[in-house]
Amino acid sequence: MNIAQRIAKRTSPFYSVEFFPPKEAAQQDSFFAEVAKIQAINPLFASVTYGAGGSRQDATLDIVARLKRDMGLETMAHLTCVGASEDRVGRFLDQLQELGVDNVLALRGDPPQDGGIDWEHSPFRHAADLVRFVRRRCPAMGIGVAGYPAPHPESPSFSSDWKYTVEKIRQGADFVVTQMFFDVREYFHFVERLRELGVTIPVIPGILPIQSFESLRRTLSLSGTNIPGKLYIEMEDAHRRGGVEAVREAGFNYAVRQIRDLLDGGAPGIHLYTLNKSAMCLRIAEEVGRL
Ligand code: FAD
Repeated sequence: MNIAQRIAKRTSPFYSVEFFPPKEAAQQDSFFAEVAKIQAINPLFASVTYGAGGSRQDATLDIVARLKRDMGLETMAHLTCVGASEDRVGRFLDQLQELGVDNVLALRGDPPQDGGIDWEHSPFRHAADLVRFVRRRCPAMGIGVAGYPAPHPESPSFSSDWKYTVEKIRQGADFVVTQMFFDVREYFHFVERLRELGVTIPVIPGILPIQSFESLRRTLSLSGTNIPGKLYIEMEDAHRRGGVEAVREAGFNYAVRQIRDLLDGGAPGIHLYTLNKSAMCLRIAEEVGRL
């Protein structure tokens, strides 16, 4: 079912969860064991990331199919379009439909660093082009798009970022899932601006519970996400004094505070970046309460 329709039927907030396909076939059993544990928090949907530039596209298909068929989860496949042909994207959508996957997160993706994209002749220059393509080809498909509470790193201004987010919605997106953020005021500001621009669809905040200092640094450098200086120093101190355990504890406490503030402020639900690990998600749900 279209995720936006599922959200509309709810009277209370929800969790959703994001996974990435395990890199090695040998990791699949432990991956599905983690998913089975996470099912205890009753996620509204599970999303599966897509390799940059379409690499490991089959892995995304395989995992969404199994989450849907074997685990009974509502699923959403991420799909990037940078450098892709209409044929390739069309084939991916056909396969999703054959597998009974009803939702896609329509993304541009990051262009390869060595260039090589023929932008002039590319059918997909921005995520909005992909949204338009999916909406025409699969009218009933649920379409999510990415939103950036702190603007996307390429955006020259906040207002340009909001404008192009609105464009993705105008082309047919049903809901927005945000990039991770560590200051909830950025989320509320983003939602308020979108509402002023006439957006009424759900904007689901993405939360990354910090699980280690190294992974925090890696994530910040890859995504360009902002972090309040005070939080960064707190994590650095925790890492120095107590290593991974101390960072995880501080990360847990911070995520719980963020989630409570988001729910108090009216967020429709919480999208958890799980990093394919169940323990932190289960602990958070226990502390915040089942949604
Ligand atoms: P767009 O919406 O196209 O925006 C990209 C930039 O272009 C922005 O600065 C925007 O303001 C600007 N822009 C948009 N339209 C126009 C226009 N018409 N004219 C001028 N400028 C314009 N990446 C992956 O490779 N795989 C994944 O699975 C994946 N999952 C993600 C999940 C979430 C929830 C999020 C937030 C991001 C994810 N990403 C993923 C990262 C994403 O691919 C990158 O952030 C990428 O750089 C931008 O994708 P987008 O869909 O936001 O692009």
